[in-house]
Amino acid sequence: MRLGKGELRDRAREAAEQYRHCLLCAHRCGVDRTGGPAGRCHEGSLVFLAGAGLHFGEEPPLVGTRGSGLVLIAGCNLACAGCETAEFSLLRRGVTAFGEDQLAALFLDLQRRGAANLNLVTPTHVLPALLGGLARAAEHGFGLPVVWNCGGYESFEALRLLDGVVDVYLPDAKYGDDAAALRLSGCAGYTAALAESLREMHRQVGALRIGSDGLGTCGVLVRHLVLPGGVAAPQEVMRLVAAISPEIWVNVLSQYRPVHEAQRFPIVARTVRPEEVREAIDAATAAGLRNVLLDGQPTSRQTQAASRKPPVEAC
Ligand code: SF4
Repeated sequence: MRLGKGELRDRAREAAEQYRHCLLCAHRCGVDRTGGPAGRCHEGSLVFLAGAGLHFGEEPPLVGTRGSGLVLIAGCNLACAGCETAEFSLLRRGVTAFGEDQLAALFLDLQRRGAANLNLVTPTHVLPALLGGLARAAEHGFGLPVVWNCGGYESFEALRLLDGVVDVYLPDAKYGDDAAALRLSGCAGYTAALAESLREMHRQVGALRIGSDGLGTCGVLVRHLVLPGGVAAPQEVMRLVAAISPEIWVNVLSQYRPVHEAQRFPIVARTVRPEEVREAIDAATAAGLRNVLLDGQPTSRQTQAASRKPPVEAC
């Protein structure tokens, strides 16, 4: 975080106004959430968590030897048919409400336990509450890098509120095709929203920079989950990312399984084939992206060469 304690408290106050007329994501519902759940995400002004702890399954620059301080947030502004975390993201089962002080205590506890960063998972719909928790934690010495692990369907208003707060943006780039995004995740105009979000994220923090300890200090790292049958249009996704900057890191994920409501859509009712994963990697290379991972590991000579560059400490 680059904001001081006072600035962060002011930013949290400003963000809280979003709950009265919510434009936090590209759905731009404009609803008042202070009286209870409203809008496409059906969320009020409370934040519910499904879990938290040190996690070693993220990309190596986010984990190091200490683990990423993962905070799993309930609810979501997307409604993906194949959601891997539907139990708490969409169905909100087994979740607990956290007030500002409880969030601050959790963030400080993760720091005390040696977490490499604070990794807020699916955070955008409760951005104001999280900023309130961060502001309170900062008053008690919190100083971990903040990772915003989101769906790539943020609004400009949300990202402006995060400027100076977030160190590493970790957005999904789910689709390069608007029809697929609407059908499979309920998101209209996904590609334009993704491009605008990535452009602003990159303006704020640039491409991912790695410190001498191997940890990402700041920057953008994009995730693309390969879907069956090329329905996510990986060629368009990679072109979109590369048009913002070929230096942006992209992690191609091959883990798709047809869970939640995926069986309702024949095109995504199976796992992905190796050749479909290869097509996504080839699309990234063809688009000119220089830092491409597959399931978190380097895939290309360019990436290996990049990893041998001298580390950059400062953002
Ligand atoms: S976070 Fe997004 S989906 Fe939820 S109310 Fe706000 S604009 Fe709508």
